[in-house]
Amino acid sequence: MILLVNPWIHDYTAYDLWAKPLGLIEIYSWLKSKNIDVELIDFLYQYYDEIPDKKIKNLSKRKDGRSKYYRKKIKTPDSLKQVEIPRKFYRYGNSEKIIEKKLKNIKNPELILVTSMMTYWYPGIKDTIKFLKKLYPDTPIVLGGIYAKLMFNHAKNNINVDYIVNRKDYINIKKIIKEELNIKVDLPQSRLKLKLKFDAYDNLNYVPFRFSIGCPFNCSYCGSTFLEKKYRCSKLEFLKQEYLRFYNKGIRNFAFYDDALLLNSKKLFKPFFKWVIEEQLYSNFHLPNAVHINYFDREIAYLMKRVEFKNIRFGFETIFRDKFVESKTDRKNFQKAVNIIEKENIDKRKIRIYLIAGMPGQKFENVKKSIKYIQSHKLIPIPNEYSPVPHTEMFTYALKVSPYDLKNEPLYHNKTIVPCNWKKMTYEDIQQLKQLARYDVT
Ligand code: SF4
Repeated sequence: MILLVNPWIHDYTAYDLWAKPLGLIEIYSWLKSKNIDVELIDFLYQYYDEIPDKKIKNLSKRKDGRSKYYRKKIKTPDSLKQVEIPRKFYRYGNSEKIIEKKLKNIKNPELILVTSMMTYWYPGIKDTIKFLKKLYPDTPIVLGGIYAKLMFNHAKNNINVDYIVNRKDYINIKKIIKEELNIKVDLPQSRLKLKLKFDAYDNLNYVPFRFSIGCPFNCSYCGSTFLEKKYRCSKLEFLKQEYLRFYNKGIRNFAFYDDALLLNSKKLFKPFFKWVIEEQLYSNFHLPNAVHINYFDREIAYLMKRVEFKNIRFGFETIFRDKFVESKTDRKNFQKAVNIIEKENIDKRKIRIYLIAGMPGQKFENVKKSIKYIQSHKLIPIPNEYSPVPHTEMFTYALKVSPYDLKNEPLYHNKTIVPCNWKKMTYEDIQQLKQLARYDVT
């Protein structure tokens, strides 16, 4: 049996905003479709049957799928002790007892695949692997996912595993399965054609959904293009079938995981939602990721309103466009989007405009002006702290200006510490900007 694991998170803060390890779920779905004996355990998942009712009741959760994670206070890592911020450190995810109970119900694994996300969450991976090694000392462990791709050498030197997959995931996993288990498994025809299976999640009340993989824009601060070299779209008919498959099972919350949802809207977004309206297959649609302002038009606005998107997030970053902030939008396009929102009478309380705060060399005053600009249009700005991502153009700049060793210690990529702080953008400044951004549209 092959065990797939989504590991614990160690961080100051973490919240489940429809966050599921889609890459791992894809691999699970692929292996299951090839009749491989496979199990997936998500150390973060709050609603396993093994978790006592009392614990679930105590956890603040929303009907649409968003929720807090269980957490336990842990020691702040030594490298972060020099960072003077008034925040405690936690391990997010289920207790060892719950995970052990869950693991007792399945066979002993012959191979374990652990995924990874943020670079600065690597201590959570180490902790997870230590725990797994205690239970299964002789089982080979493979590490994959985002951290393994962005910081392969760091992972090689710091994570005690048998294999690290940092590219061509499917081909390499296929090879490892052959080597360790002597099983030949065929590659999927296409990742976008995989029928995703969420049966490893008891009581899941939403599903992640996507029209495409990747993003063609290559913004200077974003790792999307490094992680997914090509932007690829699904086929409309397949998306309809997949939607119906979940809809007929009673799922009424769908969270879009696309990086570029509105691209190719003539082929996908528009016909898909026209079909939802025609067939009256309404659900709650959520956008955990921001969408592109420049690709928003009246027809999209009308469809979003008709099918009642519960929240619409736009990426705007800053009003000060320079060489480091891509030209994906500007004030003119923002104004155009605002006009559409007003003409279509979309409830502005549902809209959030994402800004970035704490980019290398960015000043408090500039973010403040961006916040005021958004608010002057009676919209709600959300200043997100900048996190340096290796292999991006902005990372090179961040290395030069950050007071921390970003190159060798991924813990310093943590957005909470304000990795590129300087006298004109401190931790306290960011807290003040968040206060300023609080805005009541009504
Ligand atoms: S920030 Fe958004 S638009 Fe830019 S590359 Fe990343 S996913 Fe694409």
